[in-house]
Amino acid sequence: MAYDPNNIFAKILRGEIPCNKVYEDQFALAFHDIKPQAPVHVLVIPKGDYVSLADFTASAPADLIAGYFRAIGKVAQQLGIVEDGFRALFNAGANAGQEVPHLHIHLFAGRPLGPMLAR
Ligand code: AMP
Repeated sequence: MAYDPNNIFAKILRGEIPCNKVYEDQFALAFHDIKPQAPVHVLVIPKGDYVSLADFTASAPADLIAGYFRAIGKVAQQLGIVEDGFRALFNAGANAGQEVPHLHIHLFAGRPLGPMLAR
């Protein structure tokens, strides 16, 4: 799938739409999900035009891949969710219900999160 530069997270990255920012560095931006599904629900997105995990891992430069994954860990530390535990989730494509075509990981925390998949 070609990257759509008008997707909502691209607009957030360009500063055209506000976000409730948690963390930012040269590789990644993290912000609170607008419709949280847990007491803590944060999204971390890479600074680059990647639709999904497959696309990102195949095409992104190694420093961006490393920087993005390090940023995810830093965000989890900063949120204080490491000790009690959290869930990290990528939705990729139609079967996963991916709504926004810019790579993002969901970090969920703040309560026991139940089974890994809805039944
Ligand atoms: P996904 O289904 O994995 O593509 O998840 C997209 C997520 O983006 C959903 O949890 C939405 O609530 C969230 N979302 C959509 N628009 C915004 C926005 N403007 N700011 C923050 N989160 C958003």
